[in-house]
Amino acid sequence: MAEIGTRFSTEGLVIKEMNVGESDRLVTLFTRDYGILKAFASGAKSIKSKKGAATSLLTYSNFTIQRKKETLRITEASPIALFFGVGSDIETLSLSQYFCELAYRFGTTGTPNIEMLRLILNSLHFLTKEKRYSRLIKAITELRIAVLSGYSPNLVACKSCGKFEDDVMYFNVKDGSLCCSECEREDGTVAITLSQLSAMRHIVYSQFQKLYSFEISDTNADRLSDITSRYITLQSDQSFDTLNFYNSIKE
Ligand SMILES: [Zn+2]
Repeated sequence: MAEIGTRFSTEGLVIKEMNVGESDRLVTLFTRDYGILKAFASGAKSIKSKKGAATSLLTYSNFTIQRKKETLRITEASPIALFFGVGSDIETLSLSQYFCELAYRFGTTGTPNIEMLRLILNSLHFLTKEKRYSRLIKAITELRIAVLSGYSPNLVACKSCGKFEDDVMYFNVKDGSLCCSECEREDGTVAITLSQLSAMRHIVYSQFQKLYSFEISDTNADRLSDITSRYITLQSDQSFDTLNFYNSIKE
């Protein structure tokens, strides 16, 4: 963190919060300029505190931060966008928290990670404001985070014979490769239809501006969401508490 000044401003999303003592809170921010940072928000728990709302989970705010040695303290904060409001259901909230956990696990500390921040903010927007089908937004987020984190699958063609597409192809959740129905399949493959493959290709290869603009049926989105969960979990060799919770409560 050498380049961070003793007083600086940045925008960031609150992805984690923890109460410390009577009135202190330690918040984890996914910031625009420094990636992931942990900072104390003194007195933020008190209702009168102006900082309270701006340092709450799932809020994107403008922060002024004071640094003393390795300790960061938020001195000013004003909210820009809130992604958790009255009326948010538990499924939406738990999925939002899962997006925060993904950001926390795959984000960088001390250096910016604009593309990942943009992905998380847009996913939260489509999930909580536009109310797009939640499992589609989940699939987009998981697969695109995998790409940004160096776990991009290879969806160009069957890895054995080069066949581009088929009514049914097989995606290998263990190594991210594709196999057609005629070639010999390895362990870890799951069947995917052409529309599911097209959606996956779109998520992996499209420009960010077009990432969310495609349509698939809810059934296909459900299938995709199952596959992308398995993929990101296996690729990163991690287990996500918030994903397990989401799976335990979804219909
Ligand atoms: Zn083949």
